[in-house]
Amino acid sequence: MSRIAHLINGELVAGNGGSADVYNPSTGQVIHQVPLAGRDTIQAAIDSAKAAFPAWRNTPAAKRAQVMFRFKQLLEQNEGRIAQLISEEHGKTLEDAAGELKRGIENVEYACSAPEILKGEYSRNVGPNIDAWSDFQPLGVVAGITPFNFPAMVPLWMYPLAIVCGNCFILKPSERDPSSTLLIAQLLHEAGLPNGVLNVVHGDKGAVDALIEAPEVKALSFVGSTPIAEYIYSEATRRGKRVQALGGAKNHAVLMPDADLDNAVSALMGAAYGSCGERCMAISVAVCVGDQVADALVAKLVPQIKALKIGAGTSCGLDMGPLVSGQARDRVSGYIEDGVAAGAQLVVDGRGLSVAGHEEGFFLGGCLFDRVTPQMRIYKEEIFGPVLCVVRVNSLEAAMQLINDHEYGNGTCIFTRDGEAARLFCDEIEVGMVGVNVPLPVPVAYHSFGGWKRSLFGDLHAYGPDGVRFYTRRKAITQRWPQRASHEASQFAFPSL
Ligand code: NAD
Repeated sequence: MSRIAHLINGELVAGNGGSADVYNPSTGQVIHQVPLAGRDTIQAAIDSAKAAFPAWRNTPAAKRAQVMFRFKQLLEQNEGRIAQLISEEHGKTLEDAAGELKRGIENVEYACSAPEILKGEYSRNVGPNIDAWSDFQPLGVVAGITPFNFPAMVPLWMYPLAIVCGNCFILKPSERDPSSTLLIAQLLHEAGLPNGVLNVVHGDKGAVDALIEAPEVKALSFVGSTPIAEYIYSEATRRGKRVQALGGAKNHAVLMPDADLDNAVSALMGAAYGSCGERCMAISVAVCVGDQVADALVAKLVPQIKALKIGAGTSCGLDMGPLVSGQARDRVSGYIEDGVAAGAQLVVDGRGLSVAGHEEGFFLGGCLFDRVTPQMRIYKEEIFGPVLCVVRVNSLEAAMQLINDHEYGNGTCIFTRDGEAARLFCDEIEVGMVGVNVPLPVPVAYHSFGGWKRSLFGDLHAYGPDGVRFYTRRKAITQRWPQRASHEASQFAFPSL
């Protein structure tokens, strides 16, 4: 069993505090120990980032982007190795792991355009001999705290952009699956990143609190569950930091009576059960408009859920791996018991699944509930497992009311052939990311990602144009070069044309 290291100032550092177990969820065995950074380790990372900042902020944006071009190539060359590490510690299938890496690389590609996106704005002759421009300057030392479910993609939402904008970054990845995140950070150094510009520190609440409390850390990006997002947002903004904190979700898919049902079923299967439902954009509620749609949907889903190919994530050709931990599996099983007790109809029960050769793995089969009502806990709370709930309503308006009343507003989608219904849905739904016949509307890297309501605390979404705004601050410069021969008298009224 190996011990994973921190990466501080370009060096692998063992860390001297406590540690946590890292599991292979397919076997249920502990495979690594991860150090949990104390305040000294966090301070060492901050000191290294602070020392690297003056030279890095003055490095031309085009040079910073060149590092990202090389990084992208290295990520592509190492796709198999990275996917293997993700799959080993998270449990998701190799294909799914490669998919998250590809979506992460999109953000590196966007970061390659740093000279273009940082060009600023210029106005000549705003007054006599006066020119004005707005500059986008880096903040300094900034930090990111990321969840277990996308150990490659979510960190890549953050630091490539923060770094090309001229900041130095401290990343605190999830302590549950840190190996791929660390390897990717090492590849960025191989691509030519100067030491100290990116530091990776592992840890739990203690490490996060040290980052929140450090005055040198100017901004925090967080992705994880809503209670922690809210905690980090309130504690860090109270200390004057800029914060974007993305939280949990309950994503609804609306099925209209005119939907292409076969295509909707295929889309829902992937969106509800892919990655074992451990995605913040997973569809966990199917809202059927009319009993006819609901009956037909359930009839088509049942055989497909029962036929899901489930096994060790690192084997090829599977639909689903295990959940990330025994605790996660037990929590999801608890929700299933709760749903049954509340009167929902458990149409497919995935509990008790045993995978031959992996009897100790944290597996759970796909589950389907019908006749779920908005009062039930399985409807209200984020389950984060392979569980799809069917809710029956009578109209599009009722479906939209249900979604708008929910505390979360991350993603949603509508399946329909009716343009008018789709347009109304896009206009009026109180959710940050909307799909029309697209089940997982995760924006591409040049649009920003973020939910509404209790799915995001802060003003700016993640990555894309909002990411640039988040990791820079604007400076407006007004400059006059008077003509040599002229003398301008003092002016006591407020300057105007
Ligand atoms: P989590 O909130 O448990 O952990 C996220 C991060 O916070 C980890 O780095 C963890 O070490 C740290 N953390 C945990 N407890 C903490 C505490 N008490 N104080 C300070 N920091 C703490 O989330 P998770 O289980 O790793 O990830 C799953 C959750 O993330 C789900 O709720 C999912 O919806 C959400 N998520 C949201 C998005 C999004 O874009 N909105 C994306 C991915 C995941």
